[in-house]
Amino acid sequence: MDGARPKLAQYTVYTDGPAMRPPAAFRFGTITNRASARREESMAHIVILGAGLGGMPMAYEMRELARKEDKVTVVSNNPRFHFVPSNPWVAVNWRTRENIELDIGTSLKRKGIDFIPVGAKRLHAAENRLELDNGSSIAYDYLVIATGPKLAFDEIPGLGPAAAGGHTQSICHVDHAVEAEKVWQEFVKNPGPIVVGAVQGASCYGPAYEFAMIMDTDLRRRKIRNKVPMTFVTAEPYVGHLGLGGVGDSKGLLESAMRERHIKWICNAKTTRVEPGKMFVTEHDEEGKPKKEHELPFSYSMMLPAFKGVDAVFGIEGLTNPRGFILIDEFQRNPKFRNIYAVGVCVAIPPVEVTPVPTGAPKTGYMIESMVTATAHNIRSALDGAELATRATWNAVCLADFGDTGVAFVALPQIPPRNVNWFAEGKWVHMAKVGFEKYFLRKMKSGTTEPLFEKLVMNALGIMKLKK
Ligand code: FAD
Repeated sequence: MDGARPKLAQYTVYTDGPAMRPPAAFRFGTITNRASARREESMAHIVILGAGLGGMPMAYEMRELARKEDKVTVVSNNPRFHFVPSNPWVAVNWRTRENIELDIGTSLKRKGIDFIPVGAKRLHAAENRLELDNGSSIAYDYLVIATGPKLAFDEIPGLGPAAAGGHTQSICHVDHAVEAEKVWQEFVKNPGPIVVGAVQGASCYGPAYEFAMIMDTDLRRRKIRNKVPMTFVTAEPYVGHLGLGGVGDSKGLLESAMRERHIKWICNAKTTRVEPGKMFVTEHDEEGKPKKEHELPFSYSMMLPAFKGVDAVFGIEGLTNPRGFILIDEFQRNPKFRNIYAVGVCVAIPPVEVTPVPTGAPKTGYMIESMVTATAHNIRSALDGAELATRATWNAVCLADFGDTGVAFVALPQIPPRNVNWFAEGKWVHMAKVGFEKYFLRKMKSGTTEPLFEKLVMNALGIMKLKK
C-alpha cells in the first residue's frame, strides 16, 4: 500500500480469504437512499490493534476525531484493560488485579466503538487485512498498531517467570505481577537476598528502580529488611541513566536513594544466565569490555527483560525493524504501508546514546499519549484528503513510586541537550502517582480523552503533546 488514501474496506469480520470489497448492496443491504449510499461509500474502517495504555486512548481520540460515518474497532487479545504502571503494587499486594483492571468492551461500547476480544495472529499489510487467532480476518482502511512489547525472556537462559520457563519474577504484565505476589508472600516468610534490575537491551528502567524501592518499603514495614541484602543489576552505564542519558541530577538523587536504602548496584551489567536461586552477571568497563564476573545468589528476583515486537507483525518487510518494532515517520505513519500508524512501546525509537552495554530509550505514558493525539489528527487529515501535519512532542514525563516517597522527571525533548531537564524526589510523588492511577482508570472507563483541567495543568507546566 503506497498511495495516500487506501481503498475503503469491508468492515465485517469474515472467515477466510483476502480482504475484498464486495458490492455496496451486499455491504449495506438494500439501498433506498442515494445520499446515505454515498455517505456509506466514503466511510472508513479504522482498526486499533491493542488496548493498553496506547490503544485505549487511541480508540477514544480517534472516535472523537473521525467523521460520524467512520467506524472504529479495537482488537485485543485480552478482554480486560490493566493499568501497567500499577503492576509493581500488585506484586506486593498493595493492589489487587481487580483494582487496576476494567472491562474493555463495556467502556468502548459507551462511545460507539466496536471491540473484538481476539488476538491478532498475522498482519497482511499488503492486503489491508488482519488475520485473527480464531481463523477469521478483519479488513481495515487505516490500522493503528498499539500492541506494546513482546517480552524477550528467551534471550537469556533462565530469565523470566516460571510460566516462561524461568527463575525470576516479572511485573510487565498483570498476570506476572499476580504470580510475583504469590512468590513474594512465600519469600517474606523465609527472607534472603534479592536481585532486582533490568537486563541488557532493556528500555524500561524506571519500573526496576520503582520495584526495588517498593520491595524495600514493604520489607521495612514488615521489619525484616535487615534479613534481605539487595543488589540492583542494570545495563545502564550509571545509576539514574534511565535509558535517557540521565535527567537532571537523576544520577545523584537515585544513587543517594539507593545508598540510604542499603541497595548495592552493578552497572554496565550483562545478565548471562539464571539458575534457580543464582544469577550470573558480567560487569563491563566503559569500553564495553568484560571487567568482572558475578555470581549472585537470590531468594527473590525481578528483572525487566528487553522488548521486541509482537509475532503478528515481526519480520514484515518495510513495516518493522530487525527487532520487530514498527518503523514510523514524523507523523506516526509507516513509510511503506501508508495507512498503518503506530503508537506506544511497539514503535521503533533509536537509543538516546550508545552505551557500553546496550540500553534502549524508554517510551513513557505521556509520550505515548502525545503519539496518540498526533495519530488521531493525522488519520483525520488523511480521511479529508489533506496533508498530514501533526507531530508528537515525545516529551518524557514520569512519576516513579518508591512506596512512601518517589521521584518525578520531565525531559523535554527526550534527546539531550534539552530545554527542560528536571528530576525531583519527594513524598508528593507517591501521592501524585496514586492520584494519577485513579484518574487514568476513570478516564478510560468513561472514555474522556483529555479533560480541560489536564490540558491546563500540562500547558501551565509547558508540557505539550503536539509540536507547534
Ligand atoms: P501495553 O499497555 O502493553 O498494551 C498493549 C496491548 O496490546 C494490550 O492490550 C495487549 O493485550 C495487546 N496485544 C498485544 N499483542 C496483541 C496481539 N497479537 N493481538 C491483539 N492484541 C495484542 N510509563 C510511565 O509513563 N509511567 C509509569 O509509571 C510506567 N510504569 C511502568 C511499569 C511497568 C512495569 C512497565 C512494564 C512499563 C511502565 N511504563 C510507565 C511504560 C509504559 O507507559 C507502559 O509500558 C505502557 O503500558 C505501554 O503502553 P502500550 O499501549 O504501548 O502497551
